[in-house]
Amino acid sequence: MASYDDDENFGSYGVVGSFPKDFGYGPDEQDTEDRSPSAESKPRILLMGLRRSGKSSIQKVVFHKMSPNETLFLESTNKIVKDDISNSSFVQFQIWDFPGQIDFFDPTFDSEMIFGGCGALIFVIDAQDDYMEALAKLHMTVSRAYKVNPNIKFEVFIHKVDGLSDDHKIETQRDIHQRANDDLADAGLEAIHLSFYLTSIYDHSIFEAFSKVVQKLIPQLPTLENLLNILISNSGIEKAFLFDVVSKIYIATDSSPVDMQSYTLTHMYPPAVLHSHTHMYPPVSLQNSGIEKAFLFDVVSKIYIATDSSPVDMQSYELCCDMIDVVIDVSCIYGLKDGEGSCYDKESSSIIKLNNATILYLREVNRFLALVCILREDNFDRQGIIDYNFHCFRQAIQEVFEVRFKAQNLTSNLQSSSGSLDAPAANGVVGSKP
Ligand code: GDP
Repeated sequence: MASYDDDENFGSYGVVGSFPKDFGYGPDEQDTEDRSPSAESKPRILLMGLRRSGKSSIQKVVFHKMSPNETLFLESTNKIVKDDISNSSFVQFQIWDFPGQIDFFDPTFDSEMIFGGCGALIFVIDAQDDYMEALAKLHMTVSRAYKVNPNIKFEVFIHKVDGLSDDHKIETQRDIHQRANDDLADAGLEAIHLSFYLTSIYDHSIFEAFSKVVQKLIPQLPTLENLLNILISNSGIEKAFLFDVVSKIYIATDSSPVDMQSYTLTHMYPPAVLHSHTHMYPPVSLQNSGIEKAFLFDVVSKIYIATDSSPVDMQSYELCCDMIDVVIDVSCIYGLKDGEGSCYDKESSSIIKLNNATILYLREVNRFLALVCILREDNFDRQGIIDYNFHCFRQAIQEVFEVRFKAQNLTSNLQSSSGSLDAPAANGVVGSKP
């Protein structure tokens, strides 16, 4: 519609097959606009647990769009599966699905290599089974990993809770929490912090849990949240999420710890650039326009990258996930011209009117991300202003990732020039000389 949609900053959408094949994460060599860091710099998530605890199912349901019932026929994991989620500019991580029986004391097990570059370790416990053995394994895994890399975030998925009553769920979580922490305390490892989640592949809890895990690994989180807050407060949006569209995981929420924020402010972005972020964004104020909530989704995985600071309720999150499924599925079936191009592009948008006078509004942000907003129907008359604010928001998101991209290039240039600041930049993107 408006001319501001012709934003040259947003790279090539015409890349053939740029949308993931079969909703998976295939290689994407043709992506000339790829701003992703190298594989080595990706935060890595390890998925571990006993055999049959549900690791492969989680991976398939969240990242490969498998329906939960199909997991009944999955073969049990008996080797390390390295699943490289590399097609997304926002969510770059790997899932290493370990066989349950792995022996850490086997000399061929290279724990330095495995835990060294790991951002988060998810340990899956089958809550429908006797979990004593799993707890022993959890303790062994965590203490071993912590020795190699004390910065790992330890996440425990108390899984398959769909088979448990509400009371039983709470009791199981309390019991596992208590026993796991007692074991650590007995071993003098109180410094290790475990986070617990109740999960099931049969509802959205697995996406919610994965979102929280991924959010902890994203250094841009506070900046993204700020941008969403500015967007919703000026557009009357009630809730905003940044989603990875294929996995439906959200990447950020508003409850980020303060130390993470200060870390990002001081380490990730030069202060001048941050300053310009907050001032480059000129939203038109739209008080009371009634947008209730907005999510920014990653198109590839359906993780939501960020949301505004209003509370996240599961129902809104599920609605937005369902909307992405509808939009992407319909686009893939009917949206391709002569079977060519990408079914998700800068024209992708959707408005769904619900029967409770609420509107779901989806806009493409870039080839990986979608913003999904929830707003009141009578306030959608001012769509023009909302669209203008969205445009500002989209530009700001682009800026955030350009800063990151430049910072990475600067680092690699400095490294490649062997410490000499006078050497010319290796790739000419960020020069070290005036
Ligand atoms: P792995 O060996 O850890 O990779 O385990 P699998 O992913 O092969 O899962 C083992 C079994 O658990 C399969 O039959 C799955 O269908 C089942 N399963 C996985 N997740 C869930 C869940 O959330 N709820 C229930 N009820 N079953 C699950």
